[in-house]
Amino acid sequence: MARYTGPVCRICRRETAASKTGEKIKLFLKGDRCLSKKCAVERRGTAPGQKTQGKSRQKVSEYGRQLREKQKMRKYYGVHEAQFENYFREAARVPGQTGRTFLQLLERRLDNVVYRLNLASSRAQARQLVTHRHFKVNQKLVNIPSYILKPGDVVSIAERSKSSTIFQANAEAAKNRRHPEWLDFNEADLTAKMLSLPSREQIDTPVDEQLIVEFYSR
Ligand code: SF4
Repeated sequence: MARYTGPVCRICRRETAASKTGEKIKLFLKGDRCLSKKCAVERRGTAPGQKTQGKSRQKVSEYGRQLREKQKMRKYYGVHEAQFENYFREAARVPGQTGRTFLQLLERRLDNVVYRLNLASSRAQARQLVTHRHFKVNQKLVNIPSYILKPGDVVSIAERSKSSTIFQANAEAAKNRRHPEWLDFNEADLTAKMLSLPSREQIDTPVDEQLIVEFYSR
């Protein structure tokens, strides 16, 4: 299935309008704009095409809720349908909580780790930077955004890319942001070591992964 190329803020607005608790659902698909007042969810939380809040909402079936949650998580990580399902099948083979393992697999993707380290302003930019051979894993160039990291792996910026203005600009924009505890980032040489698998509490993805487990277990 082709990647969605339409206006991404519509996705956040639709999820926010569908949220039962009324919380703002931000999927952080537009880089620094997501953290600014220009964020469409901050400005207006209505669904796309809906001019005012409070309009009657259709009753959503259980299947509909599961499907929506699955689509939300897939768009959050920017993963194609088939690959997303493969991650689920892989997680289901591992003993333990499938939902948590599923999330861990997505978090361990190289493009996600680059984004979590604030070396890219969005996962889309992280994917592009990885594809353009700006990163190494354990001293070897890796240009596969879906590369899965394991504890002990070290991510670094390729020597020729260290002076690139894009990393300096991203570092400047992110200087007050924290890095996840499962990644040990060395600001001096822009390297990071994966210390452990992330726990569920360390993953701030706004999804109910149990709904997705139920979706694929039908
Ligand atoms: Fe979502 Fe970012 Fe657009 Fe806000 S700016 S609506 S978080 S994609």
